[in-house]
Amino acid sequence: MSLPKPKPGDLQARLREAYPDARCALDHGDPFQLVVATILSAQCTDARVNLTTPALFARFPDAASLAAASLEELEGLIKSTGFYHNKARNLIGLGQALMARHGGQVPADLATLTALPGVGQKTANVVLSNAFGVPALPVDTHIFRVARRLGLSKATTPEKVEADLCRHFPREDWIELHHQLIFHGRRVCDARRPDCGGCTLLDLCPTGLGKVKDPHSGVKLVIAPEGLRPSGVREKQRTQRASPSASSSSLGGRERPPSPAPTESTTHPDASSAWSPR
Ligand code: SF4
Repeated sequence: MSLPKPKPGDLQARLREAYPDARCALDHGDPFQLVVATILSAQCTDARVNLTTPALFARFPDAASLAAASLEELEGLIKSTGFYHNKARNLIGLGQALMARHGGQVPADLATLTALPGVGQKTANVVLSNAFGVPALPVDTHIFRVARRLGLSKATTPEKVEADLCRHFPREDWIELHHQLIFHGRRVCDARRPDCGGCTLLDLCPTGLGKVKDPHSGVKLVIAPEGLRPSGVREKQRTQRASPSASSSSLGGRERPPSPAPTESTTHPDASSAWSPR
Protein backbone atom coordinates (compact mmCIF):
# COMPACT_ATOMS: atom_id res chain seq x y z
CA MET A 1 0.00 0.00 0.00
CA SER A 2 1.47 3.35 -0.96
CA LEU A 3 1.03 6.18 1.48
CA PRO A 4 0.35 9.74 0.33
CA LYS A 5 3.46 11.87 0.25
CA PRO A 6 3.54 14.98 2.44
CA LYS A 7 2.51 18.04 0.46
CA PRO A 8 5.56 20.03 -0.62
CA GLY A 9 4.07 23.33 0.58
CA ASP A 10 3.35 21.94 4.05
CA LEU A 11 6.83 20.52 4.42
CA GLN A 12 8.52 23.64 3.19
CA ALA A 13 6.52 25.92 5.47
CA ARG A 14 7.51 23.86 8.51
CA LEU A 15 11.15 23.66 7.47
CA ARG A 16 11.36 27.39 6.77
CA GLU A 17 10.05 28.16 10.20
CA ALA A 18 12.34 25.65 11.91
CA TYR A 19 15.53 26.48 10.02
CA PRO A 20 15.55 30.11 8.90
CA ASP A 21 19.36 30.00 9.15
CA ALA A 22 19.85 26.97 6.89
CA ARG A 23 22.88 27.50 4.67
CA CYS A 24 26.05 25.88 3.39
CA ALA A 25 28.16 24.92 6.41
CA LEU A 26 31.47 24.91 4.56
CA ASP A 27 33.28 28.24 4.87
CA HIS A 28 34.28 29.57 1.46
CA GLY A 29 34.86 32.83 -0.30
CA ASP A 30 34.66 31.80 -3.93
CA PRO A 31 33.90 28.79 -6.14
CA PHE A 32 37.49 27.56 -5.96
CA GLN A 33 37.46 27.48 -2.18
CA LEU A 34 34.09 25.75 -2.16
CA VAL A 35 35.10 22.94 -4.48
CA VAL A 36 38.28 22.38 -2.46
CA ALA A 37 36.40 22.43 0.85
CA THR A 38 33.78 20.07 -0.52
CA ILE A 39 36.40 17.56 -1.60
CA LEU A 40 38.01 17.80 1.85
CA SER A 41 34.68 17.14 3.56
CA ALA A 42 34.62 13.53 2.40
CA GLN A 43 34.47 11.38 5.53
CA CYS A 44 35.07 14.50 7.62
CA THR A 45 32.93 16.99 9.46
CA ASP A 46 32.40 20.44 8.03
CA ALA A 47 33.64 21.86 11.32
CA ARG A 48 36.97 20.08 10.88
CA VAL A 49 37.20 21.24 7.27
CA ASN A 50 36.54 24.80 8.38
CA LEU A 51 39.43 24.55 10.83
CA THR A 52 41.69 23.29 8.06
CA THR A 53 40.92 25.56 5.14
CA PRO A 54 42.14 28.95 6.45
CA ALA A 55 45.78 27.82 6.45
CA LEU A 56 45.27 25.85 3.25
CA PHE A 57 43.79 28.79 1.35
CA ALA A 58 46.43 31.14 2.71
CA ARG A 59 49.12 28.89 1.23
CA PHE A 60 47.22 27.84 -1.91
CA PRO A 61 44.75 30.61 -2.72
CA ASP A 62 43.99 29.62 -6.29
CA ALA A 63 44.15 26.92 -8.91
CA ALA A 64 47.62 27.96 -10.09
CA SER A 65 49.21 27.59 -6.66
CA LEU A 66 47.37 24.33 -6.00
CA ALA A 67 48.48 22.93 -9.34
CA ALA A 68 52.10 23.52 -8.37
CA ALA A 69 51.74 22.30 -4.79
CA SER A 70 54.12 19.79 -3.32
CA LEU A 71 52.23 16.62 -2.43
CA GLU A 72 54.01 16.36 0.89
CA GLU A 73 53.25 19.92 1.94
CA LEU A 74 49.61 19.66 0.87
CA GLU A 75 49.17 16.39 2.74
CA GLY A 76 50.52 18.02 5.87
CA LEU A 77 48.02 20.86 5.63
CA ILE A 78 44.98 18.61 5.14
CA LYS A 79 46.01 15.61 7.20
CA SER A 80 43.44 16.23 9.92
CA THR A 81 40.57 15.78 7.45
CA GLY A 82 41.48 12.13 6.93
CA PHE A 83 42.19 10.20 3.72
CA TYR A 84 44.71 12.91 3.01
CA HIS A 85 46.80 10.96 0.50
CA ASN A 86 43.97 10.65 -2.01
CA LYS A 87 42.54 14.04 -1.19
CA ALA A 88 45.91 15.71 -1.78
CA ARG A 89 46.37 13.93 -5.09
CA ASN A 90 42.88 14.91 -6.17
CA LEU A 91 43.37 18.52 -5.16
CA ILE A 92 46.60 18.85 -7.12
CA GLY A 93 44.87 17.16 -10.07
CA LEU A 94 41.99 19.59 -9.67
CA GLY A 95 44.31 22.59 -9.74
CA GLN A 96 46.12 21.26 -12.79
CA ALA A 97 42.87 20.52 -14.63
CA LEU A 98 41.45 23.96 -13.83
CA MET A 99 44.63 25.58 -15.16
CA ALA A 100 44.86 23.38 -18.25
CA ARG A 101 41.22 23.48 -19.29
CA HIS A 102 39.49 26.45 -17.64
CA GLY A 103 41.98 29.27 -17.23
CA GLY A 104 42.15 28.61 -13.50
CA GLN A 105 38.42 29.22 -13.03
CA VAL A 106 35.84 26.79 -11.69
CA PRO A 107 33.33 26.02 -14.45
CA ALA A 108 29.64 26.52 -13.80
CA ASP A 109 28.07 23.54 -15.54
CA LEU A 110 27.53 20.02 -14.32
CA ALA A 111 29.21 18.07 -17.10
CA THR A 112 32.40 20.13 -16.97
CA LEU A 113 32.56 20.06 -13.21
CA THR A 114 32.14 16.31 -12.99
CA ALA A 115 35.02 15.84 -15.41
CA LEU A 116 37.37 17.35 -12.82
CA PRO A 117 39.43 15.13 -10.49
CA GLY A 118 37.61 14.33 -7.25
CA VAL A 119 34.36 15.92 -8.38
CA GLY A 120 31.20 13.83 -8.81
CA GLN A 121 27.59 14.78 -9.24
CA LYS A 122 27.06 15.59 -5.60
CA THR A 123 30.11 17.81 -5.25
CA ALA A 124 29.31 19.48 -8.55
CA ASN A 125 25.78 20.24 -7.43
CA VAL A 126 27.02 21.63 -4.13
CA VAL A 127 29.29 23.98 -6.06
CA LEU A 128 26.66 24.88 -8.64
CA SER A 129 24.01 25.69 -6.07
CA ASN A 130 26.11 27.43 -3.45
CA ALA A 131 28.69 29.20 -5.60
CA PHE A 132 26.67 29.94 -8.72
CA GLY A 133 23.06 29.88 -7.56
CA VAL A 134 22.13 27.16 -10.03
CA PRO A 135 19.10 25.23 -8.74
CA ALA A 136 20.28 21.83 -7.52
CA LEU A 137 19.39 19.44 -4.76
CA PRO A 138 22.48 17.34 -3.99
CA VAL A 139 21.56 14.47 -1.71
CA ASP A 140 23.84 13.79 1.22
CA THR A 141 23.46 11.17 3.92
CA HIS A 142 21.08 13.37 5.90
CA ILE A 143 18.81 14.19 2.98
CA PHE A 144 18.87 10.56 1.87
CA ARG A 145 17.67 9.43 5.29
CA VAL A 146 15.11 12.19 5.91
CA ALA A 147 13.57 11.94 2.44
CA ARG A 148 13.08 8.19 2.76
CA ARG A 149 11.65 8.43 6.27
CA LEU A 150 9.22 11.11 5.10
CA GLY A 151 8.10 8.85 2.28
CA LEU A 152 9.35 11.26 -0.37
CA SER A 153 11.39 8.53 -2.01
CA LYS A 154 11.89 4.80 -1.81
CA ALA A 155 15.02 4.92 -3.91
CA THR A 156 18.21 3.32 -2.69
CA THR A 157 20.76 5.57 -4.33
CA PRO A 158 21.40 9.27 -3.73
CA GLU A 159 20.94 10.02 -7.43
CA LYS A 160 17.49 8.48 -7.53
CA VAL A 161 16.43 10.14 -4.28
CA GLU A 162 17.62 13.41 -5.78
CA ALA A 163 15.52 12.79 -8.88
CA ASP A 164 12.45 12.04 -6.75
CA LEU A 165 12.92 15.19 -4.69
CA CYS A 166 13.44 17.31 -7.77
CA ARG A 167 10.18 16.00 -9.20
CA HIS A 168 8.38 16.66 -5.94
CA PHE A 169 9.52 20.23 -5.18
CA PRO A 170 9.62 23.41 -7.27
CA ARG A 171 12.95 24.04 -8.92
CA GLU A 172 13.23 27.49 -7.36
CA ASP A 173 13.14 25.91 -3.89
CA TRP A 174 15.78 23.23 -4.40
CA ILE A 175 18.73 25.12 -2.91
CA GLU A 176 16.85 26.24 0.17
CA LEU A 177 15.35 22.79 0.66
CA HIS A 178 18.75 21.14 0.37
CA HIS A 179 20.06 23.12 3.33
CA GLN A 180 16.88 22.72 5.36
CA LEU A 181 16.82 18.94 5.00
CA ILE A 182 20.48 18.71 6.01
CA PHE A 183 19.81 20.83 9.09
CA HIS A 184 16.80 18.67 9.93
CA GLY A 185 18.79 15.47 9.58
CA ARG A 186 21.57 16.78 11.79
CA ARG A 187 19.47 18.37 14.47
CA VAL A 188 16.32 16.22 14.71
CA CYS A 189 16.11 13.22 12.37
CA ASP A 190 19.23 11.54 13.65
CA ALA A 191 20.24 8.26 12.01
CA ARG A 192 20.13 6.26 15.22
CA ARG A 193 17.83 8.28 17.49
CA PRO A 194 15.43 10.49 15.56
CA ASP A 195 13.60 12.87 17.88
CA CYS A 196 10.18 12.23 16.39
CA GLY A 197 8.41 13.52 19.47
CA GLY A 198 10.05 16.89 19.04
CA CYS A 199 9.90 16.94 15.26
CA THR A 200 7.98 19.68 13.49
CA LEU A 201 7.22 17.24 10.67
CA LEU A 202 5.81 14.44 12.82
CA ASP A 203 2.20 14.66 11.61
CA LEU A 204 3.45 14.62 8.00
CA CYS A 205 5.83 11.70 8.45
CA PRO A 206 4.69 8.11 7.91
CA THR A 207 7.76 6.78 9.69
CA GLY A 208 7.41 9.01 12.72
CA LEU A 209 3.73 8.16 12.98
CA GLY A 210 4.52 4.47 12.90
CA LYS A 211 2.63 3.86 9.66
CA VAL A 212 5.70 2.33 8.08
CA LYS A 213 8.87 0.76 9.37
CA ASP A 214 11.88 3.00 9.55
CA PRO A 215 13.40 2.55 6.08
CA HIS A 216 16.80 3.10 7.62
CA SER A 217 16.63 0.31 10.13
CA GLY A 218 18.79 -2.53 8.95
CA VAL A 219 19.83 -0.72 5.78
CA LYS A 220 23.47 -0.42 5.05
CA LEU A 221 24.26 2.18 2.46
CA VAL A 222 27.73 1.80 1.06
CA ILE A 223 28.86 4.58 -1.18
CA ALA A 224 32.41 4.90 -2.25
CA PRO A 225 33.15 8.59 -1.88
CA GLU A 226 34.27 10.21 -5.09
CA GLY A 227 36.69 12.58 -3.46
CA LEU A 228 38.62 9.71 -1.97
CA ARG A 229 39.39 7.94 -5.18
CA PRO A 230 42.57 8.64 -7.06
CA SER A 231 42.35 11.36 -9.67
CA GLY A 232 40.73 10.38 -12.90
CA VAL A 233 39.30 7.12 -11.61
CA ARG A 234 35.53 6.89 -11.75
CA GLU A 235 33.78 4.60 -9.40
CA LYS A 236 30.48 2.86 -9.00
CA GLN A 237 28.04 3.57 -6.24
CA ARG A 238 26.20 0.72 -4.69
CA THR A 239 23.88 -0.03 -1.88
CA GLN A 240 23.75 -3.09 0.29
CA ARG A 241 21.14 -4.45 2.59
CA ALA A 242 22.37 -5.44 5.98
CA SER A 243 21.72 -8.77 7.51
CA PRO A 244 18.06 -9.74 7.44
CA SER A 245 18.34 -10.35 11.13
CA ALA A 246 18.58 -6.64 11.73
CA SER A 247 15.34 -5.47 13.24
CA SER A 248 13.35 -2.58 11.83
CA SER A 249 11.07 -1.27 14.50
CA SER A 250 8.88 1.66 13.64
CA LEU A 251 9.53 5.01 15.22
CA GLY A 252 5.94 5.49 16.32
CA GLY A 253 5.88 7.04 19.77
CA ARG A 254 7.85 9.62 21.64
CA GLU A 255 10.25 7.09 23.01
CA ARG A 256 11.74 4.54 20.73
CA PRO A 257 14.73 2.28 20.90
CA PRO A 258 17.70 3.28 18.85
CA SER A 259 17.64 1.94 15.32
CA PRO A 260 19.74 -1.17 14.97
CA ALA A 261 22.87 0.47 13.72
CA PRO A 262 21.85 2.01 10.43
CA THR A 263 25.28 2.15 8.92
CA GLU A 264 25.20 4.84 6.33
CA SER A 265 28.21 6.25 4.70
CA THR A 266 28.62 9.61 6.32
CA THR A 267 30.14 11.60 3.59
CA HIS A 268 29.09 12.93 0.24
CA PRO A 269 27.86 10.50 -2.29
CA ASP A 270 30.86 11.71 -4.14
CA ALA A 271 33.11 12.02 -1.18
CA SER A 272 32.35 15.57 -0.58
CA SER A 273 29.87 17.48 1.47
CA ALA A 274 26.98 15.29 0.64
CA TRP A 275 28.02 12.47 2.84
CA SER A 276 30.00 14.08 5.53
CA PRO A 277 28.84 13.87 9.13
CA ARG A 278 28.41 17.59 9.18
S1 SF4 B 1 9.00 12.39 12.51
FE1 SF4 B 1 10.86 11.29 13.07
S2 SF4 B 1 11.43 10.08 11.25
FE2 SF4 B 1 9.95 11.66 10.61
S3 SF4 B 1 11.22 13.37 9.91
FE3 SF4 B 1 10.72 13.74 12.05
S4 SF4 B 1 12.44 12.88 13.22
FE4 SF4 B 1 12.54 12.03 11.15
